[in-house]
Amino acid sequence: MRVLGIETSCDETGVALYDTDRGLLADALHSQVAMHADYGGVVPELASRDHTRRLLPLIDQVLSGAQLERTQLDAIAYTAGPGLVGALMVGASTAHGMARALGIPVLGVHHMEGHLLAPMLEDEPPAFPFVALLVSGGHTQLVQVDGIGCYQLLGESVDDAAGEAFDKAAKMLDLDYPGGPRVAALAEGGDPGRFRFPRPMTDRPGLDFSFSGLKTHTLTAIRQLEQAGQLDDQARADVARAFEEAVADTLAIKCRRALKQTGLTRLVVAGGVSANVRLRAKLEEATRKQGARAYYPRGRFCTDNGAMIAYAGAQRLIAGEKDTVGQMKAVPRWPMDQLSAP
Ligand code: ATP
Ligand code: MG
Ligand code: FE
Repeated sequence: MRVLGIETSCDETGVALYDTDRGLLADALHSQVAMHADYGGVVPELASRDHTRRLLPLIDQVLSGAQLERTQLDAIAYTAGPGLVGALMVGASTAHGMARALGIPVLGVHHMEGHLLAPMLEDEPPAFPFVALLVSGGHTQLVQVDGIGCYQLLGESVDDAAGEAFDKAAKMLDLDYPGGPRVAALAEGGDPGRFRFPRPMTDRPGLDFSFSGLKTHTLTAIRQLEQAGQLDDQARADVARAFEEAVADTLAIKCRRALKQTGLTRLVVAGGVSANVRLRAKLEEATRKQGARAYYPRGRFCTDNGAMIAYAGAQRLIAGEKDTVGQMKAVPRWPMDQLSAP
């Protein structure tokens, strides 16, 4: 089955073609990052309009990359939520319109299920069951995954998501949006021994996270350096490093705890923050100590992309799942544990 995947939930227009026999055939992405950078974050209306401009050309690009005609598609999967409603509607209406014209099934996919299954596109995909750490711009969750659609939430952030914390720390350090990769780059030159930031909620049992206190801690550290006239480039790098170390350590401690609690030996890490090199190093150490193994998507499939949606959609479409004709789905809020097995 050849499935076209469409992702438009936020600020990336992603399109890909996945074949259930041959694997990923092609993928393309347009990031709106430069467009939103002037505003310091995603402007929803601008995002929707840009998805409208970019989506059809990207679909053509992916089809020609795979040397296929539209009529050779067997099904279409699109991100139905969670995300920005206007942005979601661009993908949903395009998918439904195309599917209607071609007379093929179409299915709305959960964006986080897409992130969660992205490592399945790699050469050595993890087998079920596993623990998944989802760390993105809007989510920080630990999930026990027993199969597709069998998700049990083990813990989540009670306030900011890890990616959101990175983005806010970046703003405090005068770095552009999106801040994650920029904080990481600045932290490279930082001294890990100069500041030690707290590892929130690691001193008590449980698998929930909280990153808002760490954000305040970062702001206080920056203000104190500023007032002392010591906020030079090295100090900014040292703060970035202390922040990154604290987030990565906290996530790694909770992952190890989740593996212990569930008795599972596979850890899947996905979402934008899973691209973070320091986090990966800490997770490698934590899983090794636990006799477990960590799995990640390739770099460009950590953040939003069409391939994860094509893959996740294909798993459900092949089982016969599909949207009702004419009923496109765009669900801004959609808890993942409401999903069920196909
Ligand atoms: P969600 O998936 O929860 O709806 P989203 O789609 O906006 O949110 P993603 O695209 O998965 O999130 O990830 C974007 C986030 O990842 C941003 O917050 C960004 O700062 C962060 N990020 C990306 N690369 C890195 C990195 N190398 N280190 C830390 N954070 C990173
Ligand atoms: Mg994004
Ligand atoms: Fe995402």
